[in-house]
Amino acid sequence: MKAARLYSRHDLRVEEVPCPEPQAGEVLIRVRAVGICGSDVHYFQDGGIGSDKVTGPHELGHEFAGQIVALGAGVEGPPLGTPVAVEPAINCGHCEFCLAGHPNLCPHILFVSMPPTRGSLREFIAHPARLVFPLPDELSFADGAMLEPLGVALHSVNLAKLKPGDTVAVLGCGPIGLLILQVARLGGARRVYATDLVPERLAMAGRLGADGVCQANLADPVAWIEELTGGRGVDVVFEAAWAAETVAQAVAIARPGGRVIVAGIPSLQDTLTFPASTARRKGLTLKLVRRMKHTYPRAMALVQQGLVDVRSLITHRFPLAEAAAAFALVEARADGVIKALVEM
Ligand SMILES: [Zn+2]
Ligand SMILES: [Zn+2]
Repeated sequence: MKAARLYSRHDLRVEEVPCPEPQAGEVLIRVRAVGICGSDVHYFQDGGIGSDKVTGPHELGHEFAGQIVALGAGVEGPPLGTPVAVEPAINCGHCEFCLAGHPNLCPHILFVSMPPTRGSLREFIAHPARLVFPLPDELSFADGAMLEPLGVALHSVNLAKLKPGDTVAVLGCGPIGLLILQVARLGGARRVYATDLVPERLAMAGRLGADGVCQANLADPVAWIEELTGGRGVDVVFEAAWAAETVAQAVAIARPGGRVIVAGIPSLQDTLTFPASTARRKGLTLKLVRRMKHTYPRAMALVQQGLVDVRSLITHRFPLAEAAAAFALVEARADGVIKALVEM
């Protein structure tokens, strides 16, 4: 089978590798769509995230959907041919945190695409049967791949304990920010304000329901929110960029007693910086998002019923042979890219 493998920074090669066999408890999936995530691009750009480094040829890609083509021992379904979305986090299922209902916090977790666990940018992948979700007829493979980032957005909004009537700011309008925006709207946000550096992303935020947008390299987002809210600040800030300055901005624009939810992933600099005195005086609640939990059925239903638009976010599609071009495009944020998809 063919696989796109990262050798080192910016060195992604499509080559022939052996096809995996499903082990006991696993299904074999013919991969059909893979979303390129910001975290994948961190690996492509920097060769790793924080202490996780790529050391040999390695497949990226964890936002994916495909078709069941074989069942491992002891697995009774789904039937062959079933289209499925895939939860890429393989938790142990029996530690204290798994048993308490927090599989995303399992210390034994293996995550598809995080070294040494191989990613889904290859034609076939074996995965635990308990972590695949059959797609309803209305959902395409591309939709299925979008359920992973949508799950992160749902989890982020859950963590915020958003209440109807809350005012919200979303800093960063990449795929996660644009999905958070939509979910926050559904959750009853009265006003949602969005910032980014890229005009196309802000235009998309406007189309998806933002009440106001700010291009953060042309205007100061902190002054902008102060003006919009009469100096009060917003109830909830979602940080979905992790630029050097966005967490500090989040602290500055949250109201006293407000909540700041940090969903961004840092690049090379593995440090979060904000004015402690401001955060302390305001008595802010700051939460960090660790992926998601229990979100697939809900994410699927929201897309199926047309309550969340994932399709508009898919701006570019590439065949597997051109995976490197997909990464380069997302890294450069060129051509108005929001989500680039690799299809096989
Ligand atoms: Zn992702
Ligand atoms: Zn566990």
